[in-house]
Amino acid sequence: MTFKILKKDKSSLARLGRIETNHGVIKTPFFMPIATMGAVKTLDPRDLEELDTQIILSNTYHLMLRPGVNLIKRTSGLHKFINWSKPILTDSGGYQVFSLAKWRKITEKGVEFSSDIDGKKYLLTPEKSIDIQLALGSDIMMCLDECVAYPCKKEYTAEATKRTTRWAERSQKSKIPASPAGRKNQKSESQALFGIVQGSVYKDLRLESAKDLVKLDFDGYAIGGLAVGEPRKKMYQVLDYLTPELPEDKPRYLMGIGKPEEMIEAIKRGIDMFDCVIPTRNARHGVLYKFKMQNEKCKMRHVKFKVELSPTSKIFYETIRIKNKKYKNDLSPIDPNCHCYTCQNFSRAYLRHLFMVKEPLAQRLATIHNLSFYLEMMKGIRKVIRD
Ligand SMILES: [Zn+2]
Repeated sequence: MTFKILKKDKSSLARLGRIETNHGVIKTPFFMPIATMGAVKTLDPRDLEELDTQIILSNTYHLMLRPGVNLIKRTSGLHKFINWSKPILTDSGGYQVFSLAKWRKITEKGVEFSSDIDGKKYLLTPEKSIDIQLALGSDIMMCLDECVAYPCKKEYTAEATKRTTRWAERSQKSKIPASPAGRKNQKSESQALFGIVQGSVYKDLRLESAKDLVKLDFDGYAIGGLAVGEPRKKMYQVLDYLTPELPEDKPRYLMGIGKPEEMIEAIKRGIDMFDCVIPTRNARHGVLYKFKMQNEKCKMRHVKFKVELSPTSKIFYETIRIKNKKYKNDLSPIDPNCHCYTCQNFSRAYLRHLFMVKEPLAQRLATIHNLSFYLEMMKGIRKVIRD
């Protein structure tokens, strides 16, 4: 994987870049739709292609439990198994172990847990997570980390953060075998590995975590443990002091974020990559995004809208609750300026009707639109930085 910065914004730390992987180019900053179980819920790869999706994220935890890595290995990796030829990022499984598992026990070795599906016990170690991700063949792999809850006592946060760093070192070693004839060698060279900075909202712990991980020289750096309940202002504060400590020439990934305005604030602070369940989950509940056209200033290929990279970026969008009665007879599209398949072909009234009678098509059409909004927004941001 290579990363190149093409342009930097003059009034903020925002940057425009390009990541090259074996499965294609990704323009940064970007948003990754989430394909938890190997599919973006309700969509198929053709939909994602049509939406101009650059990369998707899949979850190691879910895939290791079902269908199991051996089956995916037999089809020579996740790309082939799910019929997606563009880049894939896989997480380490750690976050889900900490948030979903019925029972877990953390030791230096790794984390032992019982599956939320059948209660069966598993041991996930940094090495095992890398092994699984190597077998999945993802373009970007993540180190196993411990994401502490918010709030978390400083003493425990310090312990967990240091352990995360030791796990990162083991992940790195596991990816690059000592012997050149090592079994993973050939494949692992094309798979990038990112370290994850932890430390909750404690500045000294965050800075120490970043410093230690940078020494290990990862292909990119992620910031984990944010948007776990802390006030938004605190999250921005962490980014303010942390992002400048991460290498300029490596991609920076803010995990699990977020809302459109949060992503813009993070991009201004030098973040390049995002993932979040918000657009797809909201779509399935009938909450749809729409650009506010009165803010229109910046001309784009399809959509016109204004994204301010100044310190006070305005909310430039609104949400529509399509199940609301007021849309019962509304024959206009969700967003007349949106070029997605849903807006080009269907009305609010029809979409509302589908939701009311619980037709599965409702969730699919809504997901297409919300992802279109997120991806078009990122295109708009890239254009703002470029200009
Ligand atoms: Zn649309």
